Amino acid sequence: MRVGDGSMPLVLSCLHPDRDGRRDDQDLSAVRRDTGRDSIGMNAVIISVGDELISGQTVDTNSAYLARRLAGMGIVTTAHQTVGDDRPSIAAAIKSAAEAADLVVVTGGLGPTADDLTRQAVAEAMGTTLATNAQCLAEIEEFFGRLGRTMVPANRIQAMIPLGAEPLANKVGTAPGIAARVVGKPVFVLPGVPVEMEWMFDNAVVPRLDRRAGIVLYHTVHTFGKGESDIASGILDLMDRGRNPTVGTTVAGGMVTLRIISRAANPQEARLAIQDTVDQLRRRLGAMVVGEGEETMASAVGLLLRQRKQTLAVAESCTGGMIAEMITAAAGASDYFLGGVIAYANGVKTQLLSVPRSMLETHGAVSEPAALALAEGCRKLLACDWAIGITGIAGPGGGSESKPVGLVYIGLAGPAGTKAYRHVIPGNRATIRLRASLTAMNHLRLALLGEPDL
Ligand code: ATP
Repeated sequence: MRVGDGSMPLVLSCLHPDRDGRRDDQDLSAVRRDTGRDSIGMNAVIISVGDELISGQTVDTNSAYLARRLAGMGIVTTAHQTVGDDRPSIAAAIKSAAEAADLVVVTGGLGPTADDLTRQAVAEAMGTTLATNAQCLAEIEEFFGRLGRTMVPANRIQAMIPLGAEPLANKVGTAPGIAARVVGKPVFVLPGVPVEMEWMFDNAVVPRLDRRAGIVLYHTVHTFGKGESDIASGILDLMDRGRNPTVGTTVAGGMVTLRIISRAANPQEARLAIQDTVDQLRRRLGAMVVGEGEETMASAVGLLLRQRKQTLAVAESCTGGMIAEMITAAAGASDYFLGGVIAYANGVKTQLLSVPRSMLETHGAVSEPAALALAEGCRKLLACDWAIGITGIAGPGGGSESKPVGLVYIGLAGPAGTKAYRHVIPGNRATIRLRASLTAMNHLRLALLGEPDL
C-alpha cells in the first residue's frame, strides 16, 4: 500500500491507537531498519498554525521535529510554512501544500477556543463541513471524567471532524487529530502542544506511513579556511540538486559545513553513497576538511595532539579563554591540554609570561612581536610542546587606521620554532573572538598535519 492511493486504514478509536506505533531513531545519522516493502519516495510540506508563532513569541519546534522524523522515514520535507490563526489563510495553505507535495502535516489550532480554527479550515480545504463524531465526543467526556472534571460545552468542538475525514487518537490531550484528504493527498492535522503532537505523530501517523522501503541519511563535513562560495565553486557538480547524494552548504559556528543528503533503497546503500561523496570532498578540499559529523575544530586538534603524544597550552588576550574552553569541551582533553593564561592586561603579559615591557611599549600589545612573545612565554612557563599566543582588537572600540577592529595576531610556538600570523577578521565582537579562536586552532592543526597554511 502506498500513502496517497486512497487506501489509508480506518482508525477505530480516536483516543487509542489501533495499531502499534513504532518510534524511529531521531538521530539523523543513525540508520533506520528498512521495511523492505514498496518504495514511496515521498515529499512533504509541514504547516504550523498560530499567531504566537508568526509573532515570534513561540519558536516553531514542531516543524523541526516533524522534518527530522519524516527524514528518518525516507520522506523529504520540501517546505515549512507558518500561518496565523485565520481560517481562509490556513485553508489556502493546506490546499496549495496538498497540490505541491505528496503529504501534508499540519500542527496547531485544534483547541476549543475561538482562535483555534484549523479543523474548520481543513473542512473548507476539503470542500465539506464539520460533523460531531459520537465516539470522539464520548472519549473526550471520558477523558475529563478520568480527571474528575466536567467537560465544558466549548470542548464539544474538539469532537467535530470534517465529513469524510478520520479522527486520530490523542492519548495525552483532549483534541483528536485529523486524517484527511485534500486534492487526493493525505493531510494529517496534529495538536500544537509539542508533547501531544509528538505522541500523535509517533502513534497515529507513523503506522500509516510505514509502507516504504526508502531511507534518507544525512552526514556533515566541516571545513575551515575558505568562504562558502569559494568552497561551493569547487564542488558544483556534487551540489547539483539532481544528484544523489547531493551536497549543500551551511555556515555555522564560524565553519562552512557541507551537508550530504543520501536517498537510497536501504541503509547500506545510503552509507556507501555518503562515503563515496565524503571521499570526493576530501580529495578536492584537502586540509580544509576539519572533520565530520560531531567532530569540531577543537576535537580535530585534540586527536592530532593525542596521536603525536604532544601537549598544548594557551596564552589568550582578546579571546579571553575561548580557545581553552573549546579545547576542554572535548572529552579527554587532559591527555594533551595543560592549561593557559588569560593575559588580558599588559601586567599579566609581562609578569606571568615574560613579555618584555619595552617591546609592548614599542610595538603595542596587538602586534606580531607580542603574539610571538606570548606564545614563547607560555611554552616556557608551562613546559608544553605547543603554545598558542593570541592578541587582537575585538571591538567595537579600540581600532585605528593602522590597527583596525578585527586585527588579530596569532603566535604559534612549537618544537621547530615560533611563527606569527596576522589576520583581519570582519564582524562584530562575538564573531571576531570566535573566528580568532578557530583560526588559531586551525594554524596549530595545519602545523600538526605538516600542511602549509591556507
Ligand atoms: P490544544 O488542543 O492543547 O489547545 P492546539 O492544537 O490548539 O492544542 P495551539 O493552541 O495552536 O494548539 O497551541 C498550543 C500551544 O502549543 C501553544 O501555546 C504553544 O506553546 C505550543 N505550540 C503550538 N504550535 C507550536 C509549534 N509549531 N512549535 C512549538 N510549540 C507550539
